[in-house]
Amino acid sequence: MEHIQIAADLHTHTVASTHAYSTVQEMAHAAEARGLTLLGITDHGPASPDAPHKWHFHNYKILPRRIGSVWLLKGAEADIIDEFGTLDMDEKEISFCEWVVASYHTACVSFERKPELVTQGYLRVCENPHVDVIGHPTTAMFPFDYEPCIKRFKEYGKLVEINESSLQWKPGALQNAKVFYALCKKWDVPIVLNTDAHYAGLVGKTPIAEQLLADMDFPRRLIWNLDAERIKEMASAKRGIQFVNEYD
Ligand SMILES: [Zn+2]
Ligand SMILES: [Zn+2]
Repeated sequence: MEHIQIAADLHTHTVASTHAYSTVQEMAHAAEARGLTLLGITDHGPASPDAPHKWHFHNYKILPRRIGSVWLLKGAEADIIDEFGTLDMDEKEISFCEWVVASYHTACVSFERKPELVTQGYLRVCENPHVDVIGHPTTAMFPFDYEPCIKRFKEYGKLVEINESSLQWKPGALQNAKVFYALCKKWDVPIVLNTDAHYAGLVGKTPIAEQLLADMDFPRRLIWNLDAERIKEMASAKRGIQFVNEYD
């Protein structure tokens, strides 16, 4: 497979999550320098110890639609907090978000992380219409039955993430990914390749995921964010977002 460069990075964190180190402007400028045209800002939902106050999401309206040549989607990485797929953001809170990644994190759950329970949680979170992306699904801390979940993600129109940061840093994520994305290929499931960047210098850079996908000859047409227009169309159709800059 030839070199992959994503056009939209749809899972990133700013200083609003305190274990991240760059501002919205710094992230957008880094995206522009990298040649990206769309940036998803997805700071942590309230169950995370590192979450911003909920007003962070309420005030998204003041941010421009575009910084430089980069369009913004102002969203959240919501936490899946139990084995029933419940999110830590209710209808009102999530209504402020334009893009929602839903992820499991060990700090945000108290149930026993047995495969049958994690599987149930992933199956159920698909029923939440606000969720756009299933975040970093291959870490060892949350084992689950991949195949039925992957089929359900596709059935409910959820994009499945391949997460560069997770592949680099989380135990088991890379090994599991070889199995998981082979199943995505088998079932023709659209994925998004995101950095989960916590620092501007990491925006848009996905060398580990790129190598993995190349090794398994993963179809480019299934990597949804190689084309930012597809993501913009999704966001427009689902939430009525207009990609015009009100500050122009
Ligand atoms: Zn996460
Ligand atoms: Zn994240």
